[in-house]
Amino acid sequence: DLEAPPLKQLAVLTCMDARLEPLAFLGLELGDAHIIRNAGGRASDDAIRSIVISNTYLGTNEVLVIHHSGCGMETFTQEEMGKVLREKLNTADGEFINWLSIADRIESVKSDAIHIRHHPLVSKEIKITGYLFHTKTGKLQEVIKL
Ligand code: ZN
Repeated sequence: DLEAPPLKQLAVLTCMDARLEPLAFLGLELGDAHIIRNAGGRASDDAIRSIVISNTYLGTNEVLVIHHSGCGMETFTQEEMGKVLREKLNTADGEFINWLSIADRIESVKSDAIHIRHHPLVSKEIKITGYLFHTKTGKLQEVIKL
């Protein structure tokens, strides 16, 4: 019987990693928040699309960007991904996609939070906070608040 708008007016952007359970580590319950997930929890165009819809039509006014330790996105570079796909699928198309791999997890949280903050379609009234989730300890480290 829950209503569609998230009860806590919250949207969470985080990684699709199968070991992460965002509702649990944030102490949230079903219906509390939109959980937007992709590889790395990156502020891709599609993540921005979801954030804008979440805010515009479903009343959320806060975004948490949460990247994590031990993320698979730290294990390859843009160039490596292009090379792997070229060898595997015999196409260079993979070189034209930004895979948003992560070289520095603190920097990735910061740059994604800043990217969302400055996106022209994201309301200036939305509160944005970036965190790093430490998978071994379950601790959330605040990285940036905008
Ligand atoms: Zn990850």
